[in-house]
Amino acid sequence: MDTSAYLKAHIRTVPDWPAPGVQFRDITPLLQDPKVFRVLIDTFVHRYMDRDMRPDVVAGLDARGFIIGSVVAYELGVGFVPIRKKGKLPFTTVEETYELEYGSATVELHTDAVRPGDRVLLIDDLIATGGTMMAGKKLLEKLGATVREGAAIVALPELGGVQRLQQAGLPLFTLVSFE
Ligand code: 5GP
Repeated sequence: MDTSAYLKAHIRTVPDWPAPGVQFRDITPLLQDPKVFRVLIDTFVHRYMDRDMRPDVVAGLDARGFIIGSVVAYELGVGFVPIRKKGKLPFTTVEETYELEYGSATVELHTDAVRPGDRVLLIDDLIATGGTMMAGKKLLEKLGATVREGAAIVALPELGGVQRLQQAGLPLFTLVSFE
């Protein structure tokens, strides 16, 4: 079995959660099994330890992006910065508001999280409409950093996010796709 199929076999689909009609892709089984967790992290680490791909900083999106992003940063020997939902970060922040299916959301980043010119790897668990990752990209760019690539375990291309992010000039690396 290739890596993608191996990882996919450990993602649980929960129907009608958090709302009727939604098929939630639950990545917690990937983390729970130490062998699978290692394959997952090593796949990201192998890509980004390459000289040309190595970021200066890893930024993780709230909240599952913290779990993966922090371990990848640790293994790469670079720093980790969290992009959090509004109201969680204690120091001065920049913020970005984006539209959700119902309503809107705001994410924040500490103003000293990255430096102008930093090359950042932006990590989340899943890309659906792409709104969350796009907001993260904008926050990092407000501070003068460049997002080198967006990485996620899962892509849901039918929801349009992959295409939208690529059109916005963000290269993407995802491991598993659900149509
Ligand atoms: P987007 O902003 O691309 O529409 O949604 C992606 C964000 O919502 C990510 O932060 C992700 O954690 C969360 N998300 C949306 N749907 C799912 C899902 O089915 N499974 C998981 N694990 N996260 C989801």
